[in-house]
Amino acid sequence: MKKIQMVDLITQYENIKSDVDTAIQEILSKAQFINGPYVKQFQSDMEEYLGVKHVIPCANGTDALQIALMSLDLQPGDEVITPSFTYIATTEVIALLRLKPVFVDVNEDDFCMDVEHLKKVITSKTKAIVPVHLYGQAANMEEIMKIADEKGIKVIEDNAQAIGCDYKFSDGTIRKTGTIGHIGATSFFPSKNLGCYGDGGAIFTNDDELAAKMRMIANHGQSERYYHDVVGCNSRLDSIQAAVLVIKLKKLDEYIAARNKVAEYYDNELSKIPGIRVPERTPQSNHVFHQYTLQLEGVDRDGLHKFLAEKDVPSMIYYPVPGHKQKMFASFGLSDSDLPVTDTLTEKVLSLPIHTEMEQEQLVFICEAIKEFVGK
Ligand SMILES: *Cc1c(COP(=O)(O)O)cnc(C)c1O
Repeated sequence: MKKIQMVDLITQYENIKSDVDTAIQEILSKAQFINGPYVKQFQSDMEEYLGVKHVIPCANGTDALQIALMSLDLQPGDEVITPSFTYIATTEVIALLRLKPVFVDVNEDDFCMDVEHLKKVITSKTKAIVPVHLYGQAANMEEIMKIADEKGIKVIEDNAQAIGCDYKFSDGTIRKTGTIGHIGATSFFPSKNLGCYGDGGAIFTNDDELAAKMRMIANHGQSERYYHDVVGCNSRLDSIQAAVLVIKLKKLDEYIAARNKVAEYYDNELSKIPGIRVPERTPQSNHVFHQYTLQLEGVDRDGLHKFLAEKDVPSMIYYPVPGHKQKMFASFGLSDSDLPVTDTLTEKVLSLPIHTEMEQEQLVFICEAIKEFVGK
């Protein structure tokens, strides 16, 4: 049996090797490393795939979030609401820009922003909300947009884990996550569902004015060459990454289907085991399974993690320390945030290997190992 990995990027590469090698070779031979034709092509392919007016490629997902926030002309101390139960980048950029992070709890069933709690933490200083579509399933965007629009608050979707996810509104309309808020931000880190071979990211919006501004911010605040209107940053997607993404975007729906097949197998094998809660599906979106995350109740989570590791089966805890308990925010007065679901989830979650190239015998092996541990 092939070694089990959280993500198998080598086998995935082998399956698209000739296309990737040809494209990279072409870039090398033309020395079009920055702003070459592949960057333009990826931008328009992505706009078409998402059904969004503007895609702005940038250097990584953290930059995408930062540029999005920078475009909103916020003042130091303005409040930005985001879940504590997410990857650190989301909150870090808020703090970096001298804005005030305010944490909202998540739902136990879909791991995304709890809308009732959101209503309670909004104040007159709230200027933006950053929902995260954690693990590949959408937050309740319809409700979040309703709340935000009523109060004139901007919404930036952190779509780093849910690219390709379809959100369904109550009237039946379907839109891709990342294109519902005023701005969407995503990452093409290699292990994401649409990953390149280095760092990469992108920002999405349907707003022409915001798009122009964010393009300018990502390029040293430049309006025309050597004329700099605002303080920006330097954040580009390079040509090699764009070429990889052009090739992989064509396969994204196939990749999502492969991840769902793995999830279905896990569901069937694990859902009946007492103490193991398999990921629930929300009615408002499909699941693109960036992670397949169990909740363990009455089963020793850390013991299972170790037991699997001894059998060469990796598993991960995303995330062991929530934002409000991170040292980096010690001076932000966030440590006593009242986030009961977040606090218990960090003790209960365990993510299993899931990727586009998983083999049946690997899945059997993983599930047998879990059953062996639980039966002990
Ligand atoms: C990966 C990730 C990011 C950051 O993306 P980078 O490309 O690594 O900067 C931000 N938010 C979430 C939820 C992520 O999973």
